[in-house]
Amino acid sequence: MIKFEDVSAVYHVKGNGEFKALDEINLHIKHGEFVSLVGPSGAGKSTLLKLLTHELKPTEGVVTVEGMNLNDLPQSEVPYLRRKIGTVYQDFKLLSNKTTFENVAFAMEVCGVEPEEIAEDVPKVLGIVGMADKMNNFPHQLSGGEKQRLAVARALIHRPKVILADEPTGNLDMVNTYDVVKLLTKINELGTTIILATHDHEVVNAIGRRVITMDTGKIVRDQMEQGKYVI
Ligand code: ADP
Repeated sequence: MIKFEDVSAVYHVKGNGEFKALDEINLHIKHGEFVSLVGPSGAGKSTLLKLLTHELKPTEGVVTVEGMNLNDLPQSEVPYLRRKIGTVYQDFKLLSNKTTFENVAFAMEVCGVEPEEIAEDVPKVLGIVGMADKMNNFPHQLSGGEKQRLAVARALIHRPKVILADEPTGNLDMVNTYDVVKLLTKINELGTTIILATHDHEVVNAIGRRVITMDTGKIVRDQMEQGKYVI
C-alpha cells in the first residue's frame, strides 16, 4: 500500500544551502502492518512521514500510497489522500477552545459531513478510544493520555487506511504511554496500518512487530521478525 522507490528529500535553508534529510529510501509497507520507525533525533523519521501526507515532495524518486503516485497528485486530490491517512503528533494538536466532542466533530465539519452523521459517528469513535465519558471536557480538563486518545479518535474519523503517529508518546508518562500503544495495537488489529515514529525502545519492544531503523537519512536496518530490539 505504501512504496518508496529511491526517494531522496532535500531541505533548502536560506544562507545554508541544501540539506539532504532522506537519502535514496526504498521501502514497502503492506496493508495491515504495524511498523515502528526508530532512530536518533534528526534521522529523517518525520521527513519520511511528511512525504506520505504530501506536506513535502521528494526531490528524487517516487512515493506511492494506495496506488496513487504522489509526485503526480493534483492539489485537488490532496484532501482525499489526507482522509486515507490519519495523523497523530507528540503535541496532540487539539483545539483548546473546543470540547472533546467538538474537536472530533470539527474534523468532520470541515469535510462537509452532514450534522446527523457527525452526531452518530463522534460518540462511536470516542467509545473506541475510551473517551465517551469525557465528551464535554475541554483539552485543559484532560490528562496527557486522554488528550492523545482524543487525537487518535480524530485521526480515525474518516476510517483511514493508515495512521501515522509521530512520537505520540513523547509527552506521556509510562502508564499513559502503554495506554496509547495498546490503543494503536487495537486499531491495527481492526485492520488499519500503523506507522509509528519513536525513539522509545521500550515501546518498540512492547509492540514486537516490524522495526525500521533510520540514521542520517538512510534506512540502516529493517527487521521483519518479532524479537527484542536493542538500540
Ligand atoms: P527525525 O524525525 O528523525 O528527528 P527529521 O525528519 O525531523 O528527523 O529531520 C531530519 C533532518 O532534516 C534533521 O537534520 C533536521 O534538522 C532537518 N530538517 C527537518 N526539517 C527541516 C526544515 N524544515 N528545514 C531544514 N532542515 C530540516
